[in-house]
Order: sequence, then structure tokens, then C-alpha cells
Amino acid sequence: MSQAPKIGLVSLGCPKALVDSERIMTTLRAQGYSFSRNYEGADIVLVNTCGFLDSAKQESLEAIGEALNENGRVIVTGCLGIEEGLIRETHPSVLAITGPHQYESVVSAVHEHLPPVPNKFLDLVPESGLKLTPRHYAYLKISEGCNNRCSFCIIPQIRGDLASRPAGGILAEAEGLVRSGAKELLVISQDTSAYGLDIKYAESNYRGRPVKAKFYDLAKELGQFGAWVRLHYVYPYPHVDQIMELMADGLVLPYLDIPFQHASPKVLKAMRRPAHQEKTLNRILNWKRQVPDLTVRSNFIVGFPGETEEDFEMMLDFIEEAEIDRAGCFKYEPVTGAPANELEGIVPDEVAQERWEQLMEVAQNVSAGQLSKKVGRTIDVLVDDVQPDKNVAIARSKWDAPEIDGQVIVANADGIKPGDMVSVTVTGSDEYDLFAEPVKAVQAA
Ligand code: SF4
Repeated sequence: MSQAPKIGLVSLGCPKALVDSERIMTTLRAQGYSFSRNYEGADIVLVNTCGFLDSAKQESLEAIGEALNENGRVIVTGCLGIEEGLIRETHPSVLAITGPHQYESVVSAVHEHLPPVPNKFLDLVPESGLKLTPRHYAYLKISEGCNNRCSFCIIPQIRGDLASRPAGGILAEAEGLVRSGAKELLVISQDTSAYGLDIKYAESNYRGRPVKAKFYDLAKELGQFGAWVRLHYVYPYPHVDQIMELMADGLVLPYLDIPFQHASPKVLKAMRRPAHQEKTLNRILNWKRQVPDLTVRSNFIVGFPGETEEDFEMMLDFIEEAEIDRAGCFKYEPVTGAPANELEGIVPDEVAQERWEQLMEVAQNVSAGQLSKKVGRTIDVLVDDVQPDKNVAIARSKWDAPEIDGQVIVANADGIKPGDMVSVTVTGSDEYDLFAEPVKAVQAA
């Protein structure tokens, strides 16, 4: 019997690219391919690239170069795939190049250069597809593309306009993920709160009943599966107010990831950010009054062209006044093809660096203050990892998304396993993490 052809996969970029990689893997596995963890064992290597920033492009080109050196047979896909000329110029020997979310094209390219063997592995593909995340949490992509035109971003050029998935398909996928062991669903897209706009909130069937492709309706339905539902990339549009009732009812986690990027109206206008005209501070304070446990995570950009000291101070005040629990920050980086490159008022590197340091300090103080309020509380945490030598479990609370937020370090973790949901008492906190002890026996996974 011939052996299954083996594919090596290098996945770069954001969670959306990760989901693309999972879909490609799932399709190929269902067709009888297997996967190699190293270059030597692979018959061919797929590189799923990122093209968001120039530094990400460079990293992608380097990853392609490494795969060519180590293996020699390379197919490129993902966001950088739209720049075929650039890839061919740097690496003329790549076998094929396809763009973002072109699953069929990348799969055909694999067929062409590494034909499949007769399919005898179908039954080995789990219901949830193949995942690059641990079994206990999963990303759920609800749409592709974006209708906004932020001046620093080329994602709409790369990924196109908003294209929402029908609600029925998303719910069926979510149900399968939960049945396969996911205890947390992380809803992602480029603009989650705009979900359904492009398909006029069309109804589709889920278990014989119609469900609208609407942000609120989808979130409410997802809440019925009993898993944690975490919303990422939400913009503070007025209709997001409705989600607070779902949080208060425990259907959706009291957590919103809102990439504000700035707080000065002038800079937000120059950035052409969605919802920039809204009274955002009041909106967040209202949300926090309704759902006192609400954690807001955000990202900010310092050094955007034209940003003055006054604009920057406005951003610091906003982080403090809105009590942005988790804040990340980038220094502005011009992206080839982005309209913001034409703007005047370049901020010198050293000023941007100084502002970055200042912002991170303010954000850290706010985070430390917010976390210290949790000490003494009993909360549920989801365990990601255990360190038996230290008798410690590394877990997350409802306030922590994987990879980007803090952790809950649980002491006396005898018998606790990754994927367990454990009730703990918070005993301490620092700038980003909580420290805790289990309060009762571990609940079985
Ligand atoms: S919302 Fe703005 S930054 Fe986000 S993907 Fe759309 S255009 Fe880019």
C-alpha cells in the first residue's frame, strides 16, 4: 500500500490566517494527506503567509526562504500571495502561489505537485476538523474581509469587502466544536459588530428554524451551547449596547476586544476609523455600569502621522478614564499601499518610542489596579497547561483571551489537567496576572 503523501505547514500571521490554515489542513487530511512536523519528513511544504505590515511581509519571505532551503518544494498561500511578483522575484523556485482564503486553489496546487493517494483516511478526520489550537478552545470565523477603509490598513485590498457566513453554518460549526470538547469559542472576523450587513442580515436554517445573520442574534445563539463565548474585533457601534444583556445573562463572556487605535477625534478621523464619531467614553462607562465585570481589551497606535502631544495625552486620559483593562500598543508603521503614507506630520522614531513606553506604563498601572480588585473572589478558570514539577496550573479567567492577555497561576494544582474548568479563589495579582488556589475538587473535563 502506498504511503500517505506528507505535507509540512508553516502558518504565519493572525488568528484569521490560523483558521485558514486549519481549513486547508482539514480539507487535505480528508483527502488522504498526512502532515509532517519537520521539513525533512515532508514531501512538500505549504507556507501560509501574512502581508499586513512590511515587517510581516519580510518575515513571510524569510519563512519561504527557510522552507526552500530545508525542503526545496514549497507552495505559498495567504495574504502575501497577492504579491506574486514580489515572491517570484525573491524566490523564483516556489512551485505555486495562491492568495488569502483561496482554499480550492491551494488544494489544487497541492494536487498538481503532490497527487493524493486513494482516500482511506476519511474516518480519521474529527468532526471539528483539524485544529492548531488545543481541544478546549477554538476560533470561530464569522466573516471574511472588511467594509471599512482605515487609512493605515490594506486588509480590504487583500481580503476584499465584508463577506459574512450564513448564521446556520456558523452555528453548526460551533455545535460540532463544542461536541468535540471546545469549552471556549473565540469569535473572530475583521469587524465582528458589522456581521451580516453585506447579506442584509439574511435568515438561514439552523436545526430547522430560521436564524438571522445579525451580531446580537448570533451571539445569543452561540451562548446556548454552554461554552464560553468571547467576542473579538468589536467596534463600539450603538447596537453593541444590546450585547450587555447577553453578558448580564451569562450567555456571552463579559469581555470585549475593541481595537480603538486612538482616542483623539482628530487622529481617529485621519485614521478613518469606524464609529469614531461616537461618544465612546460614555458608551464604555455605561457598559461597565450595566456589567460591572466587563473587561475591555484594546489596541492603540502611537506616532500616527500628525499625532501631537495633546492628541497623545488624550489617548492616555482615555485609557485611564475608560479603565481599559488590557491595552496593547504598536508604534505606527507605514504599510506599502496604505493611504496614511500620504499624510503629513511624520512623528520621529524617538518620539514614537517615548510615547509607546509612556502608554505601556499607564496601561500597566490601569491593568494592575483592575486586577487587584479581583483578589478574594471565587472564579472559574479554564486550564491551558500544567507544570507538575511546580504543582502549578496555568489557566485563564473569563477576562483573559489566549495568547494576548494575562493568566491565572493556580497553586496546589494536584490532579488538574489541561482543558479542566476549575473553581479557584484569587489570592493575589500583579500587573497582568492573577494568582489563585483551587476551592474544590476539579470538575471533570
Ligand atoms: S476595520 Fe480598519 S483596520 Fe480593521 S481590517 Fe477593516 S480597514 Fe483594516
